[in-house]
Amino acid sequence: MTPHRSPWVSDELEMLRETARRFFETEVVPHDEKFQKQHHIDREVWKKAGQLGLLCMSIDEQYGGGGGHFGHEAVVIEEQAKACNSSFGFLPGALNAPHFLAGSASHEQLLKWMPSIASGDKMLSVCITEPDAGTDVKMLRTTARREGNEYVLNGSKIFITHGSQAELSLVAARTGGEGAKGISMFMVDREQSEGFQVSKVLEKIGQNGLDTCVVYLDNVRVPEENLIGGSEGRGFGQLMDVFIRERLSIGVVGVATCERAIELTLEYVKQRNMFGQTLWDFQNTRFKIAECVTKTRAARAFIDSLIHQLLEHDKVSSEEAAMAKWWCSELQCDVVSTCLQLFGGYGYMSEYPIAQMYMDARVAPIYGGSNEVLKELIARTL
Ligand SMILES: Cc1cc2nc3c(=O)[nH]c(=O)nc-3n(C[C@H](O)[C@H](O)[C@H](O)COP(=O)(O)OP(=O)(O)OC[C@H]3O[C@@H](n4cnc5c(N)ncnc54)[C@H](O)[C@@H]3O)c2cc1C
Repeated sequence: MTPHRSPWVSDELEMLRETARRFFETEVVPHDEKFQKQHHIDREVWKKAGQLGLLCMSIDEQYGGGGGHFGHEAVVIEEQAKACNSSFGFLPGALNAPHFLAGSASHEQLLKWMPSIASGDKMLSVCITEPDAGTDVKMLRTTARREGNEYVLNGSKIFITHGSQAELSLVAARTGGEGAKGISMFMVDREQSEGFQVSKVLEKIGQNGLDTCVVYLDNVRVPEENLIGGSEGRGFGQLMDVFIRERLSIGVVGVATCERAIELTLEYVKQRNMFGQTLWDFQNTRFKIAECVTKTRAARAFIDSLIHQLLEHDKVSSEEAAMAKWWCSELQCDVVSTCLQLFGGYGYMSEYPIAQMYMDARVAPIYGGSNEVLKELIARTL
C-alpha cells in the first residue's frame, strides 16, 4: 500500500520526527522496564528532552519555548506512540501542562516559571480532578481563601500525573461561590509550600511509567502573585481553552497507535505458521487487518484535517476536538484489541509491545473528558 504522508508534515517536521524517534529509541525504550518499576522516568531523560528542544515546542521563545506550532508537538506525540511507550509522558508533561500555563498566565508569570519547565529543570503537574469532581469539574471543592497578600489552599486532588515528580503544580481551587464562576487557578511551588503532600503512586493497569498520585493540600500558602492571570473566577474558562488541544492530542495518539499496531501485526502474521500456512493466509486475518487499516485511514484523514485547520486558521472548535478524541480513542482500543487477538497467547505477554499498547490504551476513552460527556458536548451544538 502507498505509504501515507500527512499534508501538514513539512521536511522540517520530518527532521524533528527523526530526532524524536532517535530520542525514544535510545533514551526511553531501553530503560522502560526500570521506569515502569519506579513509576517515573529518570530526570536526566526529561532534561535531555529539554536540551533537544522537545519540551514546550509551541510555547513562545521569549519564555524558553521552541516558538513552533501544534505540528511540532504532533510529530513527537506520534513518535512516542510508535515507540509503544507511555512512560515519557509527553502529553501530560510537555504539552498539556505548559499550555494550561501559557494560555492564562501573565507575562511576568510566564517569565518566572516557563523557562525552567521548557529546559526540563522543573516538571509541572496539573491538579484539577477531585474524588467528587471528575468529569463534572464544576463540582470541585478545594478552596483558596484569601488572607492578606496570600491565598490558603485546602482540599485534595486525585489521579494527578507527575504528582510525585513535579516541582510546580497548577491547582484549580474555589475562590468564589458554587459553579464554574467560582474557580481560579494557582501555581504551587512545592519547595516553597508546606502542606502540599503526595500519596504513594497509585497502581494502574497501564501507563505504569507515569506516576499518578493523590495530592493533599493542607493550609498551603501561596503568594497572591501565584493566582494565574491575576484575577479570580477565570479558572474554568482557562481550563476549557486547553481541553481543545488536549483532546485533539489524544486523537493524534489514537491514530498513531493504530498505525503502529497494524504494522507490528502485519509483520507477525506473515511469519507465524499454522495448519500448513501462515496466519496471513487465513481470510479472517486479512479481513480483520483490512478493516483496521480502513478505519485507521479514515481517522487519519479526520485528524489531519483538524491539524491543518489549526495550523492554517488557528482554530479547532470544541465539538470537533471532542469528536476527534472520542472517535480516535475508541478506535485505538478496538484496533489494538483486534491486533492483539492475532498474536494469540504472545499478545497477552507483557514483553510484547502489543500487550503494552492494549494496557495503555484503555484510559484514553476515560481521561481528557470521558467519551460520554464529549458526546453530550457535540450534541449540544446540533
Ligand atoms: C491515568 C490517569 C491520569 C490522569 N491525570 C490527571 C491529571 O494529571 N490531572 C487531573 O486533574 N486529572 C487527571 N486524571 C483524571 C481524569 O481527568 C478523570 O479520571 C476524568 O475526568 C474522569 O473523572 P472520574 O474518574 O472522576 O470519573 P467520573 O466523573 O466519575 O465518570 C465515570 C463515568 O461516568 C460516565 N459519565 C460521566 N459523565 C457522563 C455524562 N455526562 N453522561 C453519561 N455518562 C457520563 C463515563 O462513563 C465516565 O467514565 C487522570 C486520570 C487517569 C486515569
